[in-house]
Amino acid sequence: MQNIIIVGAGPTGLLLAQILLARTGYKVTIYERRSDPRQLEPASDRTFPIVLQSRGLRAIRAIPGLETAITAQSCRSQGLAIHRAKGEPRRITRKLSTLLIDRNRLTRVLLEQLVQQYGDEQLSIHFDCACVSVDVTTDQASQAVTFQPKNDEAFVAECDRLVAADGARSQVRDCLVEAGQMQCDQEIIADVYKSLFVPRISADGGTELDGDRNHTWSLGNGIRLIMAPQPDDWLHGTLIFPPNNNPLESLETAEAVLAFFQARCPSLGQLMTLEEAEALRLRPVSTFLTVRCDRMHWGDRILLIGDAVHAVSPSIGQGCNASLQDVGVFAQLLEQFDDDWSQALPAFTAQRLPDVHALRELSDFSFPRSKSLGVEFGLRMLLDKRLGRWLPQLKTPMSLLMNGEQSYGEILEQTQGWINRVKQSQVKE
Ligand SMILES: Cc1cc2nc3c(=O)[nH]c(=O)nc-3n(C[C@H](O)[C@H](O)[C@H](O)COP(=O)(O)OP(=O)(O)OC[C@H]3O[C@@H](n4cnc5c(N)ncnc54)[C@H](O)[C@@H]3O)c2cc1C
Repeated sequence: MQNIIIVGAGPTGLLLAQILLARTGYKVTIYERRSDPRQLEPASDRTFPIVLQSRGLRAIRAIPGLETAITAQSCRSQGLAIHRAKGEPRRITRKLSTLLIDRNRLTRVLLEQLVQQYGDEQLSIHFDCACVSVDVTTDQASQAVTFQPKNDEAFVAECDRLVAADGARSQVRDCLVEAGQMQCDQEIIADVYKSLFVPRISADGGTELDGDRNHTWSLGNGIRLIMAPQPDDWLHGTLIFPPNNNPLESLETAEAVLAFFQARCPSLGQLMTLEEAEALRLRPVSTFLTVRCDRMHWGDRILLIGDAVHAVSPSIGQGCNASLQDVGVFAQLLEQFDDDWSQALPAFTAQRLPDVHALRELSDFSFPRSKSLGVEFGLRMLLDKRLGRWLPQLKTPMSLLMNGEQSYGEILEQTQGWINRVKQSQVKE
């Protein structure tokens, strides 16, 4: 029996637990810093919608019944509604539909499925319990990890293998970096965000936004709003803005926040309640962190997976899809090497690292920031829709990413010319 500790009960840690327990010979213990999501309201402060497409869903399909459970908590999206100050939104319909699900809802479904299937002998989960340090000496027979429960004394737990699935601010990774065992570049993205929740249909039924597509508003000066429908007829989303340009900063009352939305994006303003306007005013601003590492494992003991090892900007909607795909790739390697982690771990870095580095390039440089490239980007998207089949050189990274068939490395290779031009335009800025 292999004793596995997974740090982090996010989408990556929970799906990996499912994969390991579906094989034989594993006992899994999960430690999560946050509280049990089953005890939280669906719309709590730190959540946001995630667009799941075939890349992430393929990994989920390895567990019978899981996709159905996730789909039941999602909305199917046919595309995008781009809202303007006046009139009907411009609707873009995509060939392939995606699933829209709130991040906390996704973890809740993954968790419920896990605890329904596995009892205490194979699985234990500890919430409100943060990993604080990892012993990185190599000559020990087992891996020691120190945890700090919220209301109790710190303790040390031992395991055969440790999984760092603790997200962009991974403590496991930081311990390895501090000990000089791996390299990692971290960057705070220029934009910040606040989560936002409004009903999709107004109380009097007079206003209703489409329940089968994402909604976007561009408010100028780098301020934008993205809202995704949820199955309970709510919209969950994010207000994204440059840190020095928080449109709500000077608004001191809920009425002022409501008036701001009613004036700047009326279709959403009509749906917002005074209560939500106040909650939004008080809600904390969150930052995006990106992470680029030189490996995805340490020795034959530690696996680094998901955002812990490759957090990217959410602009291209791939972070979670790539993280779930990591799990799928690692599962194949466990199968190939008969659960011998000493072979599967280095093979994982060798196979997956080039792809997640390609993802980072795509997420940093797919969208142009200069006006002229922005116009060209719009034109290419339009022409691609009509002529893309015959002129593949017109394709933007986004259309290839939505397709979900090619690896990130292949997409980068095919669109390298465009990526280089966006990169150069940013150097000139
Ligand atoms: C606004 C926004 C929109 C996004 N939209 C999309 C999208 O449309 N499509 C997409 O694919 N991706 C999207 N993403 C990215 C996606 O959310 C992440 O890639 C995904 O959640 C990664 O999953 P994870 O399990 O690796 O990490 P996380 O979801 O970050 O989970 C890590 C878990 O580890 C826990 N943890 C952290 N530190 C410790 C510790 N020391 N001890 C114990 N536990 C710890 C955390 O509490 C957390 O629960 C978006 C991200 C943001 C911020």
